[in-house]
Amino acid sequence: MPRPIKASIHTAALAHNLDVARRHAPNSKVWAVVKANAYGHGIENAYPGLRDADGFGLLDLDEAVRLRELGWAGPILLLEGFFKPEDLAIVDKYGLTTTVHSDEQLRMLETTRLTKPLNIQLKMNSGMNRLGFAPERFRAAWERARAISSVSQIVLMTHFSDADGERGIAHQMETFERGACDVPGERSLSNSAATLFHPAAHGAWVRPGIMLYGSSPKGLEVTAAQLDLQPTQTLEAELIGIQDVPAGGSVGYGSSFVAETPMRVGTVACGYADGYPRVAPTGTPILVDGVRTRTVGRVSMDMLSVDLTPVPQARVGTSVTLWGRGLCIDEVAASAGTLGYELMCAVARRVPIHAV
Ligand SMILES: *Cc1c(COP(=O)(O)O)cnc(C)c1O
Repeated sequence: MPRPIKASIHTAALAHNLDVARRHAPNSKVWAVVKANAYGHGIENAYPGLRDADGFGLLDLDEAVRLRELGWAGPILLLEGFFKPEDLAIVDKYGLTTTVHSDEQLRMLETTRLTKPLNIQLKMNSGMNRLGFAPERFRAAWERARAISSVSQIVLMTHFSDADGERGIAHQMETFERGACDVPGERSLSNSAATLFHPAAHGAWVRPGIMLYGSSPKGLEVTAAQLDLQPTQTLEAELIGIQDVPAGGSVGYGSSFVAETPMRVGTVACGYADGYPRVAPTGTPILVDGVRTRTVGRVSMDMLSVDLTPVPQARVGTSVTLWGRGLCIDEVAASAGTLGYELMCAVARRVPIHAV
């Protein structure tokens, strides 16, 4: 008997959220970002819902190969590019598009013979200070890339640090325009937040990730529902035990929760080894039999506890929703002091995951 826990991936919701991205950026092509195993959904599970994208963006060569094996013949963008000269053989074999953000990558391209033309996205560091050429060196990097015989199309790329926040993108747009002012080529600038909130940055390509998975880049400030985004990952388990806890009784490790009055507490077959955040405190929202209630006490490795006061009908075997349909992942994330991104990516391998 498998443990009663599973993650369901909602194919129609993925397709819907991709449409929302298209609605916001109607004149742009969409790189659907499927890095980190499609934000924890599984490339194989996410692909059927996202196959109307113009291309897929990811990091790992093996994920790119899996997409090709699923039948995707269109563009695939390596968001961090390649790492070693030998990676270029796979880039070449599978016809991948690569980000080029460093002199080391340019050198590898200059010294490796490829069999087909290679499309690249040349990345500028416009202020985030992770990857990319400095703005004043961008033109020179472009000239150098253009001189490489295997390099075909060069798209100009950057990435925003604050598209979801108060600082916004103006300072980086200004830097980007300065560094790229006399460099021809399509632009690829926008993550989900810029796709949703900064139309001026759309360009020829947008690169939404998190919004495709039904989580808002602004968390609870502008909710997924307000953005018309639907949940794509529902994590469900069941009650595997029920305790009548007397007033003064404690629940779980460290006795961090003490019942003030007699109460029924349910034990759920989901813990931090399944990817549920251990830091989620008492009071984190959770659904039991579709009824909203709260977690109580510490999350343990394989189990967590819930207050059954509002769910008198609950029995062993009653279904529990940790997040997804009926409970936005961003609410659980906010309670745990993190983002929907981290929760959906963290679903553990021991949790069976299926597209529905
Ligand atoms: C992850 C990533 C994205 C997508 O970001 P979201 O915030 O998930 O939309 C876009 N571009 C690059 C380069 C990325 O690494």
